[in-house]
Amino acid sequence: MKNIIFIAPPAAGKGTQSQMLKEKYGYVHISTGDLLRAEIASGSELGCEVKNIIDKGNLVSDELMIDIIKSKLTEIKGKPFILDGFPRTLNQAESLDGILDDNYETIYLELSREDAVKRIEGRLTCSCGKSYNMNDEALKPKVAGICDICGKELVKRDDDNAQAFIVRYDNFLNNTKVLIDYYKNKNKLHIVDVNRNINDIFEDISRIVAND
Ligand code: ATP
Ligand code: MG
Repeated sequence: MKNIIFIAPPAAGKGTQSQMLKEKYGYVHISTGDLLRAEIASGSELGCEVKNIIDKGNLVSDELMIDIIKSKLTEIKGKPFILDGFPRTLNQAESLDGILDDNYETIYLELSREDAVKRIEGRLTCSCGKSYNMNDEALKPKVAGICDICGKELVKRDDDNAQAFIVRYDNFLNNTKVLIDYYKNKNKLHIVDVNRNINDIFEDISRIVAND
């Protein structure tokens, strides 16, 4: 099975699609956002530093992110994986080339700025990683404010606000978007329009996974 790398603007649904792929195919889901939020929740000194960066919508240093990914990939010992949130810069992508073999495909989840901002406004998140959206009937939790899966209380992420969104989206344009051409040139890029319902998106992604 091919490893999967997601490239996407904020709120494009990397986490949701990763979760669905994990259930269907048994991938290990590596979400750098979730890993960083777990570090924050642990109350460590590093978590505290990271929180200041993330809450403003800025990117954490390449050095730290590359360390995190290296140790995670060592830990999973060759099991098929999804990278959700890494690489986000050219420097991260180049480091990843030194670690990965050729057995991967990159999927770009395409979403306009207007659609991304709408999703951010309505999004609620559980600490287990599952996201909901109050602006979409199909994506609301069964019980208001409670995670369907683990029953914990849903929260608004501290970086899911209009101000941090501007920084996050600009970071996507200025740092991450170059990766589209980078992976296109390697013949590794698939583009999926994500301004559609979750199941249709998942069908396209499954086709990419199954064909490769
Ligand atoms: P989504 O909306 O799909 O959850 P996102 O891009 O808004 O995607 P996360 O992937 O959860 O959010 O990442 C949250 C934050 O964590 C980023 O805004 C950034 O501050 C930090 N982060 C995560 N991955 C990286 C990375 N590879 N390099 C630098 N910073 C990162
Ligand atoms: Mg995410």
